[in-house]
Amino acid sequence: MKDIEIAQQSEMAPIVDVAKKAGLEPDDIEQYGAYKAKIKLPLKKTYNTKRKLILVTAINPTPAGEGKSTVTVGLGDALQQLDKKVIIALREPSLGPVMGMKGGATGGGYSQVVPMEDINLHFTGDMHALTAANNTLAALIDNHIYQGNALNIDPRRVIWKRVLDINDRALRHVVIGLGGLTQGIPREDGFDITVASEMMAVLCLAKDIADLKQRLSQIVIGYTYTKKPVTVGQLDVTGALAMLLKDAVKPNLVQTLAHTPAIIHGGPFANIAHGCNSVLATQTALNLADYTITEAGFGADLGAEKFLDIKTPVLKKTPDTIVIVATVRALKMNGGLAKNDLDNENIAALEAGYANLQKHIYNMKRYNIPVVVAINQFTTDTQAELNRIKELCATDDTYASIANVWAKGGTGAIELAQKVLETTDQEHDFKQLYAPEDSITSKIEKIVTEIYGGAKVEYSPKAKKQLKQFAELGWDKLPVCMAKTQYSLSDDAKLLGAPKGFTVHVREFIPKLGSQFIVALTGNVLTMPGLPKSPAANGMDIDSDGTISGLY
Ligand code: ADP
Repeated sequence: MKDIEIAQQSEMAPIVDVAKKAGLEPDDIEQYGAYKAKIKLPLKKTYNTKRKLILVTAINPTPAGEGKSTVTVGLGDALQQLDKKVIIALREPSLGPVMGMKGGATGGGYSQVVPMEDINLHFTGDMHALTAANNTLAALIDNHIYQGNALNIDPRRVIWKRVLDINDRALRHVVIGLGGLTQGIPREDGFDITVASEMMAVLCLAKDIADLKQRLSQIVIGYTYTKKPVTVGQLDVTGALAMLLKDAVKPNLVQTLAHTPAIIHGGPFANIAHGCNSVLATQTALNLADYTITEAGFGADLGAEKFLDIKTPVLKKTPDTIVIVATVRALKMNGGLAKNDLDNENIAALEAGYANLQKHIYNMKRYNIPVVVAINQFTTDTQAELNRIKELCATDDTYASIANVWAKGGTGAIELAQKVLETTDQEHDFKQLYAPEDSITSKIEKIVTEIYGGAKVEYSPKAKKQLKQFAELGWDKLPVCMAKTQYSLSDDAKLLGAPKGFTVHVREFIPKLGSQFIVALTGNVLTMPGLPKSPAANGMDIDSDGTISGLY
């Protein structure tokens, strides 16, 4: 059965009942229909006894699929079956991947969050609000320049781009303001996807509305003719932008197929943005539940590194256990097999591909956090292959549990849940990768050599010039958000497994002062993706009675 058919056949509990289970009264939520709600701010504080945080991450993704969201949901349902007070905290899907490469973001099989059609499409409108706030700022910048340009903004140095939450390569580079005297000042511009925008990062890192406003006011939109940065605060539009985000900033509450509470809020991509759901969502879950399970995007080299080096210092809570999701299929691809050969048992390819999982295990242990591997079972996996991963992990002193959550829901992850419960009680002393006072180049070097396994970093002439400028402006100690391909530990998508000795190429930096990090664009990664030859949109439909099909 397809994911959507399983979801459509499920019976959802009224959202007030799910809220109650999470520790929220009807007064604490604003209902969006019967099955979705926003959680009101400021956050309710409860005195839960445990406050344990579990971070789910993965090996490098392949077209074979990994299933982080699926495992996150299944693990949450398993903990609920074990009578634990648990809340899942996930990211909101972007319409880009929903319409483009096959894959929603609501889990799969019997481990899903519902209503999956709503969550995968417009949900509670957060993406649209972020897009509107982002583009309102773009319009206000161009209007300021047109109306006399009191701030002396150089139109050639505006770095604030317009956004759209869909893959649209035709909008990567545009010229605006054409058509004559009354149509604005012509300049080069471009569109990013909403989930890569600074507006999204600001929403995801804000601790409350006051912090949201502070971060918005610090955003640098460009530079003057004398190369001085210009901020949103100087444009005097912080209040208007915060107002446009008044509902988007509140976390969304939904449920799994087994009625486990799930908070789904914020959705930055992990390759071109920081890849974690909102601090407010994670904090809400931590306030309410004994066990919070959250997920960071793509492989642990991207999502988890950013969770630990960018989000953790803001959240002020480190994960108590890291779960690394791997699949037999993806490891065989990392070991050199083609996608069409994955259905046959191949222990040799699996053993070769294990190098990728092993590198991620070492990387996560480097932060001094206990690690458990979850093998997301597919129907084509053989027992010998599943056992071999367990044995290989054991040689690296790591426990691996087979999670059959896609076929069985929470029941398929009881052993994983028991192991996770045990490890969250282990003492650990979080060791950050870099010190806050390290320079940008030293931070990048640590990420590249220690996490990616590379040998060195090369900077383009433009990037070198920017580094000098950042030092003059006092931005040279900010954390770094790497923008890199998700498919490889290197910046070359074709280098699978655990490559070594490679060079990472930084071609440009984007300062994000509202997010309080500097984005480093590596290789040929793009901040506005394109659609594939056969977009997932091709198979989608809606009946006259409103029933949706083809949405995975
Ligand atoms: P990720 O979070 O790593 O991007 P998802 O959990 O969203 O991955 O899963 C991606 C797709 O793979 C979903 O359509 C899901 O149904 C499918 N999938 C995940 N796990 C399995 C599995 N064990 N067997 C079959 N399909 C799976």
